Amino acid sequence: MKIKHCEWCDSQFESDISYQIYCSVSCREQATKEKIAARYALARRAKRMGKKKLCKSCGQPISVYNDFDLCQACDINPIDVAKALRQIKGISNGKDIPE
Ligand SMILES: [Zn+2]
Ligand SMILES: [Zn+2]
Repeated sequence: MKIKHCEWCDSQFESDISYQIYCSVSCREQATKEKIAARYALARRAKRMGKKKLCKSCGQPISVYNDFDLCQACDINPIDVAKALRQIKGISNGKDIPE
């Protein structure tokens, strides 16, 4: 038997298994959870740093901190869009655009 120190809680335990680094199942589970969380946080950060976000409308790169999918130039007021659509419809119908 060899005396080992648990990688998680640092308590001593005896084991003949060379790859056993945790004293108990719960220590191993907690350490695993921690590792996964750390890796997940790192991956998320890397994604934010490395990935460029592109405008859905014109394809221009936009800030990753912009939560919308459009650049400032394309991110127009929805009321303006509705008005423009109404005008286009009015023209295609051959009618006068009501003011
Ligand atoms: Zn332990
Ligand atoms: Zn755009």
